[in-house]
Amino acid sequence: MEEHPTTPLNDPEGTNSADAEKELILRSYKALLRALRPSLGKGDKKTIRLAFDMSLEAHKDMRRKTGEPYILHPLSVAQICAEEMGLGPLAIVCALLHDTVEDTHLTLDDIRNSFGEKAAMIVDGLTKISGVILQGSSIQAENFRKMLLTLSDDVRVILIKLADRLHNMRTLDSMAREKQLKIASETAFLYAPLAHRLGLYPIKTELEDLALKYTEPDIYTEIASKLQQTKRERTRFINEFMEPIREELTRQGFKFEIRSRTKSVQSIWNKMKRQGVGFEEIYDIFAVRIILDAKEEDEKAMCWRCYSVFTDYYTPNPDRLRDWISTPKANGYESLHTTVMGPGGRWVEVQIRSRRMDDIAEKGYAAHWKYKEASVESALDEWIKKIRELLENPDSNALDFIDDFKLNLFSDEIFVFTPNGELKTLPSGATALDFAFEIHTDLGSKCIGAKTNHKLVPLSHRLRSGDQIEILTSNKQTPKEDWLNYVVTAKAKSKIKSVLKEEKRKFADDGKEILERKFKHLKLQLTTENINELLAYYRIPSSLELYYRIAKGMIEIYDLNEFIIDKGTIRAKQPLRSEQQTLEQMVKNIRGSSDMLVLGENLDKIDYKLSSCCNPIPGDDVFGFITVDEGIKIHRVSCPNAVQLMSNYAYRIVKAKWTGQQEIAFLAGVRMTGIDEVGVVNKISKVISSELKVNMRSISIDSNDGIFEGTIMLFVHDTHHLDKLIKKLKEIHGILTVSRIDGK
Ligand code: MN
Repeated sequence: MEEHPTTPLNDPEGTNSADAEKELILRSYKALLRALRPSLGKGDKKTIRLAFDMSLEAHKDMRRKTGEPYILHPLSVAQICAEEMGLGPLAIVCALLHDTVEDTHLTLDDIRNSFGEKAAMIVDGLTKISGVILQGSSIQAENFRKMLLTLSDDVRVILIKLADRLHNMRTLDSMAREKQLKIASETAFLYAPLAHRLGLYPIKTELEDLALKYTEPDIYTEIASKLQQTKRERTRFINEFMEPIREELTRQGFKFEIRSRTKSVQSIWNKMKRQGVGFEEIYDIFAVRIILDAKEEDEKAMCWRCYSVFTDYYTPNPDRLRDWISTPKANGYESLHTTVMGPGGRWVEVQIRSRRMDDIAEKGYAAHWKYKEASVESALDEWIKKIRELLENPDSNALDFIDDFKLNLFSDEIFVFTPNGELKTLPSGATALDFAFEIHTDLGSKCIGAKTNHKLVPLSHRLRSGDQIEILTSNKQTPKEDWLNYVVTAKAKSKIKSVLKEEKRKFADDGKEILERKFKHLKLQLTTENINELLAYYRIPSSLELYYRIAKGMIEIYDLNEFIIDKGTIRAKQPLRSEQQTLEQMVKNIRGSSDMLVLGENLDKIDYKLSSCCNPIPGDDVFGFITVDEGIKIHRVSCPNAVQLMSNYAYRIVKAKWTGQQEIAFLAGVRMTGIDEVGVVNKISKVISSELKVNMRSISIDSNDGIFEGTIMLFVHDTHHLDKLIKKLKEIHGILTVSRIDGK
C-alpha cells in the first residue's frame, strides 16, 4: 500500500491526491459489487450502496496507520467476505459498517432503522468482540470460544471478525513492533484455529503464515525465499508427474482442472521443528489437486475412477489413503487424498475432488449450503446451526478424530520404500534391520542404523507402511547375537545365524585347541564319549558351542576337578542337576542371608575386587565369587560369566548387596554410535566432564563413512548416576545409540 499524506478526505482545497483517493475508493467499491454479483437479489444493490455511503460518511475524517482513507478497510473486509467466504448481502452490509458504532457517531439505532434488527445485532456483536479483545491483553482460548458463542447468535459475526482480522494482518506492516507482536500471536493462537474449525482452509493458512512473518521474521523469510528458489524445479517435477495422468484422464473423457498447492510456510516450519530436519528434507512440500467437473450424483464414482488412473501409473501408499467423500469431516470437508510414489522416489500427495467439494474446502459451509438451498441467506441459517454445534462441543478432538483415523487395509503386511522409490513388502513388525537384509545380506550385516523418512532411527526401529528407508552402514559392523531379538523375517534370521555361526566357528577352533592341550596334559583324548560327558555336565547343546565358550573364557577348565579321570575317560563327580534354576533362585539358595557381603562399607577391611568382565557399580544386582588368589570378586548378576560361575561353583558364591554411598567412584563403560558430525566429540566430553562432572578414564572413537562408534570408560557413583549420564548422551544431536557395556 502506498503511503498518503494525512489530509482529510473532503479537503476543501481539493488536491490531486484527493481525487486519486476517490478514484481508488470507487474502484474498490465496484470490485466488491462484481464479487457479489452471483448472490445479489432484488433491491440488494440499493441496500449495499446505502451501507457504503453511510460508512464512507461516518469514517470520512479518519485514516488508517498506513495513511490511506479509512473506508478502504471496511471495503476490503467486505471484499474478503464476498470473495473468500462466499457470504451474501446482509454480511456485506455489516462488514461495511463493522467499525462505525465503535469508532464514529453512528449508533446501533441508526443501523437498525436503515437495515433492520438482524444487521443491528450483528454489528453489535462485532463491536462487543473488539471491546473485549482490546481490554484483555492475554485472552484465553476458552474464554474466546465462550465469548464467540454468546455473541454470535449469528455466525456472520464470527466470519466478519475473521475477515477483519485477515485484512489487519495483511496491513500489519505500518504498526509499531510491539503491536505487531501482540496482534500476530493472538492471530496464531485464536483466529487461525477458529478459521480451521470453520473449514476456511485458505484463510487459516494465510493467517498462520502472516503471524509467523511477524513473530519469527527470520524463519519466515528463510523458508519463503527457499520456496521461491525451488519453485521452478517444483513446476517441472509436477508437469512430469502429471503428464501421463493428464493424457489418460483426457482420453477417458474427464473434464478437470489441475492445481498444485504448496504447503504453507507455517506448516513447513512445524514439520522442520517436529522432525528436527532442514527445509531440504521436507519431502511433501506440495500437493497436486485434481478438480473434476461432475454431477453431484456421479462425483464419488468419478473421484475413485480418477484415483484408479493415478494408481495405474504410481504406487500408492496404502496408509495415506483418506476417503473424506464417504465420511466427510465434521466441518464439511470432502475430498479423496492419497500419496503416491512419484518419479525419482519422491512422495506426492494427490487430492481428488469435485468442483462442489473444492468450493466447500475453499470457502467453508457457506458454499456447502449454497448447493442445497435456494439463497445464500437461507444457506447461512443452516450453517449457523452447524457452527453452533461445533462451538458448543468442548471436545475439540472430536473434529480431528477422522483425521487421525488410520485406514489400515493390510494389517499383516507393510509396504515400505527404498530411497529410489522401489516398493518392498515386509511382514508387519519388521524392523529397519529386516529391511536391510531384505535388500542385501551385506547391507544387513553392516547395518548400524537407518533413516526413515529422513529421520535417524536405530536398527531395531519398527517400520510402518509408507516409510521410506535409507540404511546406514559401517565396515566395522558385524551381526550381533541380540539382533535375532529384533528381526522377524526368515531371511534376516537365517542370514544373521549363519554369519554368527561362521564367527563362532573361528573361535571354536581356538577353543578346541585349548581343550586338546588341557586333555593332553591329563592324558585324555578328545573322544566323542568325553566330549559328551562335558556337554551333559555343562548343559551345552553342541561341541561347537562348548569349544566357543572355552575360547571365550565362559567355561574355565583349570584341572577338571569336577570330574573323575579314569583310564582315559572322564565322569562328572556330582549327578547332573535335574532342574534348571533361575539366577535369582540360585542366589537365594546359596548360603544363609547372614553371610551377606555388604559392599561399600569398610572397603579396605574386606578383600574384594570388582570384576573387570562386567564392571559392577552400586545399584547393580551383584554377587561375590571367591577366587583362588584374588579374594572375593564382585560380578553383576547379568554378567555373561555369572550363569557359569553360579552353576559350577555354587559353593564359592557369596551373596552381596550395596549400601547407599555416594563418594566412591566406580569404573563403568559406555558404548555409543552416531553420525560423525563436526564437534560431536566435543559435545560428548562436554556433557561428561562439565555438565555431569564425571571423570573419564579413556575415550576411543572410531569414525568411518560418517558414522562413529565410541567407547568411554568413566567413573560413576552408581547406576542412577550412570543412567542419568546415558540419558544426557542420548540427547546429543547425532548420537544414535548409547548403552552400557555388558561383560566382555
Ligand atoms: Mn475493522
